[in-house]
Amino acid sequence: MSRAYSGIRETRPYTYNDMGGYSLVIAEDYQKKCLKTADRTFSQGLQCQQINSLSALISLEDSVFIVHSPQGCAGCVSMAADGYRVGQAHRGVKLIKSPRIIVTNLDQNDVIMGGEKKLREAVSLAVERYAPKMIFVFTSCASGIIGDDVDAITGDMQKDNEALLVPIHCDGFRSKICASGFDAAFIAIQKYVLSKERLPKQPGLVNLFAPTSISYKDQLEIERMLGLLGAEVNYIPFYSSPDKIRRITSAQVSTSICKVFADEFMKELDVSYGIPFAHTVMPIGVRNTDKWFLCIAELLGKGKQAREYIQREHDRILPQLADVKKRLQGKRVFICGGTGRSFAAAALIDDFGMELVGLETPTYDIDAQIDIEYLNGIHNNYVVDVANMQPFEQVNLVNRIKPDVFIGVPAWSARFGIPTTHVLDPKRATMGYDGILYLGNKIASQVENPGFNKKLSVYARLPYKQSWYESDAFKFIKTSVAKTGVISTSKG
Ligand code: SF4
Repeated sequence: MSRAYSGIRETRPYTYNDMGGYSLVIAEDYQKKCLKTADRTFSQGLQCQQINSLSALISLEDSVFIVHSPQGCAGCVSMAADGYRVGQAHRGVKLIKSPRIIVTNLDQNDVIMGGEKKLREAVSLAVERYAPKMIFVFTSCASGIIGDDVDAITGDMQKDNEALLVPIHCDGFRSKICASGFDAAFIAIQKYVLSKERLPKQPGLVNLFAPTSISYKDQLEIERMLGLLGAEVNYIPFYSSPDKIRRITSAQVSTSICKVFADEFMKELDVSYGIPFAHTVMPIGVRNTDKWFLCIAELLGKGKQAREYIQREHDRILPQLADVKKRLQGKRVFICGGTGRSFAAAALIDDFGMELVGLETPTYDIDAQIDIEYLNGIHNNYVVDVANMQPFEQVNLVNRIKPDVFIGVPAWSARFGIPTTHVLDPKRATMGYDGILYLGNKIASQVENPGFNKKLSVYARLPYKQSWYESDAFKFIKTSVAKTGVISTSKG
């Protein structure tokens, strides 16, 4: 990228991965620039950035994805691959395809002798078997450690291939922030696909960057809303094609459905191609939908139309919310999710009169700070756990705080017998104004029907000793704002 961004999110100023404490303290310390970089002395696992690079591109048509790694690295892609198949079904595709993934299967010999031969064979196989327009090559910890020069190999093979070869540097060890994987994918697209061409501008064309987790219903709703502003939507890269990728440079403006996804890429498009962008929030809940829609509308010079539409939608939706509110008012909520969606959910629950008591999110940065400052104005002091996959901290906190409902991946908290649900629903409509009603009813339904989790709590035990539940949840975070013992069952 022309701004020389490395794609490693830790290099962005004031970005933190390991932190825990109360929201008011964190927000104040961040504001004063007093937060210190910390680390966990014990960690249960991290989501690898390679999976995000892969899942961002896996639904591209006419493409093959070569994972230059031992076999296990590609294992995590099964979830994204399943999402791709389900997404095709929702889009009315009759002959459902699986993504074309080839793993080079690096082994002990390759770690010593180098993996070049296997990579060359994989590229040749991809061409012979599928005749694709693009071949993406994803690096891994193993290929990075042994120093395979993937750029040189693909550059050399490009001379004899019509398919565009695109190396993506997503070695897992390069970053602890899994969103770096999105950046690695977009840096490669900029370098190998877009830099070669600059299409004429098309007024009204909007780049809409969407991560894999967006349902088809949500895609249709967001496209419909942008259509009200007279925009033509270039929905990318999910369920997209090499031609749609190439159209990126002809857009008038860009926006993203998730504030973490493509944010760096949109800055690059602004600098290199003069495409301004709207970077706000995920359009979930009344406040976020208003904000998201208005920001892109202002860029298109359609602020007045957007405000009129928002008012009509408030008149239609807010009376209907009253019933949901009656069922959820005052319920205490613990939220865990990706950065974009967890903050969106924390704003959403205010529509239902619910109270935020805990928030777990993978990263804390200036965008998180903006959201926390907003949330601190509507919720009481709540616990924040900045953690990329640390379920042991989550269970400690949930056990202490005892929320009325947990929103997020329920695998652990459900075993306490509390109602659990999530707002990440890749199969249904969660965004825009009608999405608010769907999510409200869904949360209320879970709160009112806790039977399954109650039974689960009897038969499925969590693997932790009582002593862990009595310990400070953040005891393994060193140089953190968390003060041992401050996380109590009270509201703080
Ligand atoms: S690239 Fe590294 S971190 Fe990612 S799955 Fe492979 S070994 Fe694990």
